[in-house]
Amino acid sequence: MQIRQLITPSIQQQSYAFLIIATVIFACCLIGIFTRPITFLALLWPANPILLGLFLRFPKLNILGGWLGAITAYLLADLVTGNSIEITLYLTISNLISVSVPLILVHLTKLDYRDYNKGLSFLYLFTMCTLGGCLLSAFFAVQSITHVPNSFMSPERFWTEFGMWWTGEIFNFVTFLPLILTFPAKKESRQWIFELFTEPLKTSDILPFIAIIISVAFTHIFFGPGSLLYPLAALIWAALSYRLFSVAFINSVVCIVTYHSLTYFYLSSSSNAFLSTTISIRIGLCMLGIAPLILCAISQNRQKLYHQVLDYANHDSLTNTLNRRYFLEQSQLFIQEPHNKSVSILMIDIDHFKQMNDRYGHHVGDLVLQQFAKLVKHKIGLNDLFARIGGEEFTVLTLNTSLEDAIQLAERIHHAIETAVLNIENQFQIQMTISIGIAHQNLPLSGTLQQLIVRADQALYSAKAQGRNQIIISTE
Ligand code: GH3
Ligand code: MG
Ligand code: MG
Repeated sequence: MQIRQLITPSIQQQSYAFLIIATVIFACCLIGIFTRPITFLALLWPANPILLGLFLRFPKLNILGGWLGAITAYLLADLVTGNSIEITLYLTISNLISVSVPLILVHLTKLDYRDYNKGLSFLYLFTMCTLGGCLLSAFFAVQSITHVPNSFMSPERFWTEFGMWWTGEIFNFVTFLPLILTFPAKKESRQWIFELFTEPLKTSDILPFIAIIISVAFTHIFFGPGSLLYPLAALIWAALSYRLFSVAFINSVVCIVTYHSLTYFYLSSSSNAFLSTTISIRIGLCMLGIAPLILCAISQNRQKLYHQVLDYANHDSLTNTLNRRYFLEQSQLFIQEPHNKSVSILMIDIDHFKQMNDRYGHHVGDLVLQQFAKLVKHKIGLNDLFARIGGEEFTVLTLNTSLEDAIQLAERIHHAIETAVLNIENQFQIQMTISIGIAHQNLPLSGTLQQLIVRADQALYSAKAQGRNQIIISTE
C-alpha cells in the first residue's frame, strides 16, 4: 500500500470511493451504536471488519478518498450520538488502527485471501487481525480513553477494559469479515439464483440448516458453559454441505445468537461473572466461527480438484472428447436405462490422415484433429456421446433415433467436414474427408454393445475399401 497508490487516482475515483465508504461505514457505525447499552462498549461493531473487507476485496476503494470517507463516517457517527470530541477522536484512531494494521500486514506478507487452495488463508488473515489490528487498537484505546476525565473507561480496570476491547474486536472480525470476503461476485450470484429457481431443493440440502437451528435454540434452553459447543457438529455438517458464503453467513448468525444466549445466562446468574467470563466466551466463539470456514474452504477446494482430475481422467486431452474407457462406461449406462428405445453408433475415421501428418508434420495433424472434433461437436445433440476411440478414429453414440435419423446425422457431419476449410495458424488451408460406418439397433440389445461397435467398425472398413469419403450402413 504505497502512498502514491493512495493519491494518484482521479478526483472522480476519489469522490466515488469517499461516497461509498462514508455511506457504508456510517450505516455500520449506527448499527454498532445501537448495540451499546449493555456495557458502554458496543457489543457489535461491524464497521471495522467491513471496512477491511471492502478494502481487501475492492482495492479501488483503498485510496485516499476511501480513507477520508471512513474517517468522516467514524467521526460523524460518534459525534451525532453524543460522544465528546476527545473521545470521538480516540475512538476513530482506534478504529483506523484496527483496519490499517492488518491491511499493511496483508500487503507485506503478500497474503492472497482468495487463495482458498491452501485453506489456511483465513487462519492467517484472522491471526493478522487478532495479533495486529485488534491488539494494537485495544491498546491504543485503553491507553488514551482511560485518561479522559469522566470517560466510560476507568484506569483501575485497565486490563479488563483492554481484554473486553480486544476480544470484542476479534469477535467482530470473525463475525463480519468473512461475509464481505466471500460475498458471491456478480457472475457467481447469478448462477446461484439460477440454480435456486431451477434445481429442486433436496431434503439433504436443508438438513444441516435445520440441525443448526435446533442446536442454537438449545443454547437458549439448556444454557451453561457447554452450550458454546452445541452448534459445533451442525456447523461442521454445514461446512461440508454449503458454499463458503452460506457458511460465513450461518457462522455469523450462530456466533451472535450464541453470544446473546451465553451473556444472558451469565448476566442472569451474576453480573460479576459476566465480566470475568465474557472474554473467554468471545474467544471460544471466535474459535467456533473460524473452524467451519477453514473446513469449508478446504473441502470445496478438494471437491474442485477432484472434479478437475475426474474431468482429465474421462476426456482426451487433445480434442476434449470423451476417451475410450469413459465412452464405454457411459454407453453401457445409457443403453441400460429403460426409457431408451434405440441406439445408433457412428464410427468416423479421417481419410488419409497419415499423409497429412507426413506432409505437414505431426503438430499440424494435432490441430486438424482438434478442429475436426470442434466441427463434429457442433453437429451432434447435447445428449449424444462423442469419443476419440483411437488415433484419428472417433465414435458418436446417439439414442432414440431411427436409422434414417442416424443416417441424416452422419450426412450432416460428413458434409460439414467435407466443406470445411481448416485454417492452420493462418499460414495454409487444409481440407479433408471422412468415412463413416453406421450400426443401429433397438433396445434392449440382442447382443452386447461391443458387438454393435464391431458392426459399425466393419461398415467403416467397407467404406474405406470402397474408396473412402462415404457413409456405409451396417446390415446385420
Ligand atoms: P485411412 O484413410 O485408411 O484411414 O488412412 P489413414 O492414413 O487415415 O490411417 P492410418 O491408420 O494409416 O494412419 C493413421 C495415422 O494417424 C497414423 C498416426 O501417425 C496418426 N495419428 C494417430 N494419433 C495421432 C495424434 O494424436 N496426432 C497426430 N498428429 N497423428 C496421429
Ligand atoms: Mg484414417
Ligand atoms: Mg484409422
